[in-house]
Amino acid sequence: MDIQPNQPTAKGGPDMFTGDVWLDVIVRGEEPSRVRVNVVRFAPGARNAWHAHAVGQTIHVTEGLGRVQARGGEVIEIRAGDTIHTPPREWHWHGAAPDHFMTHLAIWEAPADEPESEWGDQVTDAEYLAQPTERQTATRDVKEIG
Ligand code: MN
Repeated sequence: MDIQPNQPTAKGGPDMFTGDVWLDVIVRGEEPSRVRVNVVRFAPGARNAWHAHAVGQTIHVTEGLGRVQARGGEVIEIRAGDTIHTPPREWHWHGAAPDHFMTHLAIWEAPADEPESEWGDQVTDAEYLAQPTERQTATRDVKEIG
């Protein structure tokens, strides 16, 4: 067992992000593990550029309100508790809502012999500000145990 040193929080750079984004590396697996886990905090209006992950990515929203879009698809509103999977090589972006912070866990794997992710153009304001599709929240009676 190993309690790992806490890495300093890093600022997302302008090549990959628009607005203020802060990243904490939680897991960077050593071979044979290839797992990667970051906590990513987006300020209101902040988002990453268009990108694709070689072996896909799962994000899990832990706080706030955000947006995600796959290339060719609609902008979709995401909120705390949502888990979003993007398949290998699907171009997409994710970020905060214009008026809310959003924090998510990002979980992905590094392939053996190619870059983890491919990065493209920034998400323009016109793309980012498209009216998002609001998702219905499922409701049901809370189940009690005992
Ligand atoms: Mn991604």
